[in-house]
Amino acid sequence: MSFSALGLSDFFQHTLDDLGYAEPTKVQAQAIPAILEGRDLLAAAETGSGKTAAFVLPLLEKLLDYPRPHSHQVTALILVPTRELVVQIKQAVQDYSLDYPRRLKTVAVYGGVSINMQMQAMLAGCDVMVATPGRLLDLIEKNAISLNQVEYLVLDEADRMLDLGFADELEGIINLLPVQRQNLLFSATFPQEVDALIDRLLFNPVCIEIERQNKLPDSLIQRPIEVDKAQRTTLLRHLLAENLGAQFLVFVASKRTAENVADKLYKYNFNVDTLHGDKPQTERNATLAAFKAGKIRVLVATDLAARGLDIPLLPFVVNYDLPRSPADYVHRIGRTARAGEAGTAFSFIDPDNDTHFKLIIKRNQLEVTLEQIAGFERKTTSEQVTTEVRKGLQPVKGKRKSKKDKLREAAARQS
Ligand code: AMP
Repeated sequence: MSFSALGLSDFFQHTLDDLGYAEPTKVQAQAIPAILEGRDLLAAAETGSGKTAAFVLPLLEKLLDYPRPHSHQVTALILVPTRELVVQIKQAVQDYSLDYPRRLKTVAVYGGVSINMQMQAMLAGCDVMVATPGRLLDLIEKNAISLNQVEYLVLDEADRMLDLGFADELEGIINLLPVQRQNLLFSATFPQEVDALIDRLLFNPVCIEIERQNKLPDSLIQRPIEVDKAQRTTLLRHLLAENLGAQFLVFVASKRTAENVADKLYKYNFNVDTLHGDKPQTERNATLAAFKAGKIRVLVATDLAARGLDIPLLPFVVNYDLPRSPADYVHRIGRTARAGEAGTAFSFIDPDNDTHFKLIIKRNQLEVTLEQIAGFERKTTSEQVTTEVRKGLQPVKGKRKSKKDKLREAAARQS
């Protein structure tokens, strides 16, 4: 089936051919005609299903009929839970509108960066706004944005938005919207709070349920490895050496561990960076862009990077620390083996984590075989590890050299 057959203009087909989209995914095939028809939509779909194009493409088609919005006004509002998703969806809008017959203005609104640029961007209004709820309300308070001309509202990752405590902000935003509008809601899961939001927001929606994505692809190999806590970085180095040049996304439990692991790899000359909530937003965006562009080999991240992010062609994911929630295990390892590519997800299981890993596997109904790697066999038991941790035998925080330090050293060597 072609995209044109779903009701999209021919110029989209050209753009999508160039992007290598041979045919619509399931969620696209179902959502695009319904949205074009003007129906409200409820879709159970996760990252990886092609859901972004499922709402962006028909919205762009509909926007063809609209004049440019007035100052401070927004025509299509896309609300998402994280700054990273804002950046990703804005990029998708730009990618899909490459052959758009008129100039399309898209504005990204998210916290952690200067508000002034975003205020200025809204002076001329915008066709599409991609926003996190908190910063959007800040801008509304400053009279930089008005929502009374919104025709289309998209809530993406609604469950995550509520998980992150955005219920009040959402309520505040919804109250500012005009009554007449088209609403699209995407969510991976449907806890009670999401059901309440659906009742509040959607009118006679078309409902789409895509097979659960946590049916992991066959091309994804899971390799849980039994290893002592203290040996994990050495094992990671071993895996990096075994897979020369391949990119790794390494998940850790805390910002501190992220910096710690990165410091240690850096000392062995690995091209490594970190992604976590302590870093300024601009730096996070730049790091992610560099990783996606293949300029960083190893990215050590907290769960911030686990959901929603689309990093194509990522061959290896490592659970250096196991995630607390079984659902996050699937989200994390789902970062690899996307779109039919092969991928491997390593998980380091130290003696303290045996029970927790069993729970993760059971809850997700997975089948895996635990491995030991020669030279990295466990030597401790759960009680020993606990005593060591009590004694404070934890890794010492190192310091990576900054670019400036390295330049200084190079200059010193030459002089
Ligand atoms: P999403 O679920 O929106 O995060 O999309 C996941 C990935 O699938 C993104 O890299 C998209 O570029 C890609 N994608 C979306 N639709 C298609 C399609 N019809 N054919 C091939 N790739 C697609």
